[in-house]
Amino acid sequence: MIRSVINQEALDRLFQLLDQADNVVLTCHRSPDGDALGSVLALRRVLAQLGKNANVVIPDRYPATLAFLPTVNQIITFVEASKQPVVERLLDQAQLIFCLDFNSMQRIDTLGPLISNAKAPKVLIDHHERPEPVFDLCFSYPEMSSTCELVYRILMQSRMLPLIDKPVAICLYVGMMTDTGNFTYSCEDPDLYEIQASLMRRKINKQQLFAQAMNTFSEHSLRLQGYALDRKMTIHQPQGVAVITLDQEELLRYKYQRGDTEGLVNRPLSMPAVRCSIFVRQDPEIVKISCRSKGDLDVSRICSRYFGGGGHINAAGGDFKGTIQQALHIIEHEIIPELTPTEKQPTTIPNE
Ligand code: 5GP
Ligand code: MN
Repeated sequence: MIRSVINQEALDRLFQLLDQADNVVLTCHRSPDGDALGSVLALRRVLAQLGKNANVVIPDRYPATLAFLPTVNQIITFVEASKQPVVERLLDQAQLIFCLDFNSMQRIDTLGPLISNAKAPKVLIDHHERPEPVFDLCFSYPEMSSTCELVYRILMQSRMLPLIDKPVAICLYVGMMTDTGNFTYSCEDPDLYEIQASLMRRKINKQQLFAQAMNTFSEHSLRLQGYALDRKMTIHQPQGVAVITLDQEELLRYKYQRGDTEGLVNRPLSMPAVRCSIFVRQDPEIVKISCRSKGDLDVSRICSRYFGGGGHINAAGGDFKGTIQQALHIIEHEIIPELTPTEKQPTTIPNE
């Protein structure tokens, strides 16, 4: 039996809001991943089945690797100049706005002020730590694997499981799969597997979805990751911290495309002696920081404190407005010293 963990008063309020709303807008964070896109597309389809005029508006383009998701072609991308008046009109007419898989307006770039200023109530559905207090109704459950799990639970508790058809099941499954690294982390809740079973009864093809969403690397990207691990990874002991950096010249050399370094930050954690992995990448405008950790080492706090970012305890990120060298200086002189083990604190996590 899947437990009912969603706050019932909040659910009742959600349906009051929905009763009064015909025009609904859904959005998710920039550089959307499987969970962000999966959750907005799944919920949009359910709302459409309820007779709502529901539109998905996202800050920037989705990766080509997720173009297989059902109804992805209906997404409106704000970054495309020709779409901006359309987005402004949709937000103006919206009577309810769903914000999925992000916890701060900064995560949706220039769409942030438009959504903040829209008169419609804003409903947050998310699993990141410490949401900003800017939403009218909050479903914030950081202990959940993914926003897609949360959407499933909201539908289940609202007796709407019959509205989960195969396309909705595909979207929800892909979000759960990608946010847990194909069920290898953030996946200790047995309910997750009952949800998985229920989605499989909608005839989704797990093996095919894994290949479509996760086996998507190009030769260039694989070689870039090999280079990064061989030449650009420093391991700091006794703290058990691995740091990888990639600058613009290196990315260019390997014909870097967005998504090519996906998963790279997880690789150092496959060494028992590493409990924290930090990846620093020079993007055109900012230095992108990605952090992963094991056990109770909270990288979301580290990213929030030093890089204005956030995320989850074991997976977080941030944008740093400076150079790679400045980011490295902070990592080596502030973050790593903080992680120096005391006598009581072992450098590796036992039994991992
Ligand atoms: P990734 O390292 O894969 O980009 O992100 C890991 C996790 O941290 C994701 O859940 C992502 O949403 C979150 N995250 C990444 N970058 C940022 C950021 O700049 N700000 C916040 N608040 N969260 C981030
Ligand atoms: Mn997510």
